[in-house]
Amino acid sequence: MKKIIIAIDGFSSTGKSTLAKQLAKELGYVYVDTGAMYRAVTYFAMQNHWVSEAHLDKEQVVQNLNKVQLRFQFNDVLGFAEMYLNGVNVEKEIRTLEVSQNVSRIAEISEVRAKLVQQQQEMGQDKGIVMDGRDIGTVVFPKAELKIFMTASAETRAQRRYQELLGKSQKVTYNEVLENVQQRDYIDTHRDDSPLVQAEDAVVIDNSDLTREEQFTKVLALVNQKIR
Ligand code: C5P
Repeated sequence: MKKIIIAIDGFSSTGKSTLAKQLAKELGYVYVDTGAMYRAVTYFAMQNHWVSEAHLDKEQVVQNLNKVQLRFQFNDVLGFAEMYLNGVNVEKEIRTLEVSQNVSRIAEISEVRAKLVQQQQEMGQDKGIVMDGRDIGTVVFPKAELKIFMTASAETRAQRRYQELLGKSQKVTYNEVLENVQQRDYIDTHRDDSPLVQAEDAVVIDNSDLTREEQFTKVLALVNQKIR
């Protein structure tokens, strides 16, 4: 069977990572969550007080990018790779609403994107990879054999993310989460460098009314057409 690259792009909280993890497990592929990489750079910038809701010191972020070392390490118990920033596991820290509120402004910086895109392309050299993000099918792997573009209504997505954050005992309101989802959609689709757009050859999956299993079955059928 042929090894391929599966690129999954789409709006925030559309369940990209859930689908990507299911596919990687089924196919024995590597799963790469590129959002975690942008989140880790954001967390690094937050720790150094270069970014907050009211402020962004782009110059400092760019000048210090060489001090950011990112690595994924597979966790056998959890069944997925966790993000390490300069040798420290930051998987929990990068998933907070505070990081979500700053990440899209960090992801607008071209120098940040160039560094992360290069790392992502290296990870895909041997194929057999499922990567999710915003620009995977358009910029990182424009020749990916299968491209999926995921979408769902903002309210559906905010509700899912809200439940997920509550499950992690974070103190948030539904409205804060909805506002964040809408704000990130806006910045991600309007930035100059690599905005979120659907690749021409991507298959659109609107999962507002699909269960995880239905969605997985649908995409697995597409994968099978490509690898057999
Ligand atoms: O996927 P996730 O929601 O964790 O991504 C967090 C943010 O990182 C996105 O809202 C977007 O601003 C940025 N991002 C990006 N390009 C990617 C992945 C994520 O700009 N490939």
